Amino acid sequence: MCIFCGKRLPKGTLLRLAVDEAGQVVADPEQRRPGRGAYLCGEEACFRRLFTLKGRRRLLSAFRGKARGVSPDLLENLAKRGGLKEHEQDPHL
Ligand SMILES: [Zn+2]
Repeated sequence: MCIFCGKRLPKGTLLRLAVDEAGQVVADPEQRRPGRGAYLCGEEACFRRLFTLKGRRRLLSAFRGKARGVSPDLLENLAKRGGLKEHEQDPHL
């Protein structure tokens, strides 16, 4: 379930986010990291929320205090891709 819009999608179509050893939220496309995960759908409106203060707070609270920040790599990665995995309906993205 996407943490922002609450949409329920098969796990393979959601991007898993996890917390690394340093307490940073990172992408976990292989779904291998231990511990709690948060999921994001591929909607642009949702991943854009990661770039807002409110969205960050929501994300961090999804990890119940385990996350201290969002990895700059994750944000850069999302910004660069302009979308998320399995969301390729729009050829212009
Ligand atoms: Zn969403």
